[in-house]
Amino acid sequence: MKPIELFSAATIARRVTELGKQIDAQMPPGPMTLVCVLKGAFVFMADLVRAIPRQMTCDFLGVRSYGDATLSSGVVEITSDLGTTITDRNVLLVEDIADTGLTLRYLLDVLSARGPASLRTCALLSKPSRRAIDVPVDFVGFEVPDEFVVGYGLDAGQLYRNLPYIGVLRS
Ligand code: 5GP
Repeated sequence: MKPIELFSAATIARRVTELGKQIDAQMPPGPMTLVCVLKGAFVFMADLVRAIPRQMTCDFLGVRSYGDATLSSGVVEITSDLGTTITDRNVLLVEDIADTGLTLRYLLDVLSARGPASLRTCALLSKPSRRAIDVPVDFVGFEVPDEFVVGYGLDAGQLYRNLPYIGVLRS
């Protein structure tokens, strides 16, 4: 099934460039650590780091959410932890999409317990109409309606991550 295009590759590239400038202007000064939530954020992360003109380190957090393919339960397992300490670092947590917000809430609690100097969140996509809890998303690429989206790192059954655009899957 071919997804219906929502954001083209060119539109995404323009927005990521803007986000990088916004993040650089608004994060506390000094070096940062960007934490990429795997797998969905890996394509976004690769472009975002190159749009932030600042000294940084990158790290990766593997997570698995329980629930069915399209509904998060908020129960998250860390399948692969960070390889570095984030204590006293200015951390930006980079997610693919904030849907109910439960995953982001869980990860914020885990990371803030490690004593970062600051902790902010960035999501490529946000579905505000689906939010189940109040969780801060400090930087958002695009707001999307309540539809299942794929591409640019986001999957459906592990497929479509390599699409250069973001699209909606409708059966
Ligand atoms: P939340 O805990 O905010 O409900 O959902 C978090 C995770 O669910 C996201 O990181 C993502 O992996 C998955 N997810 C939520 N909505 C979508 C969607 O529309 N498309 C895809 N591919 N994944 C989604």
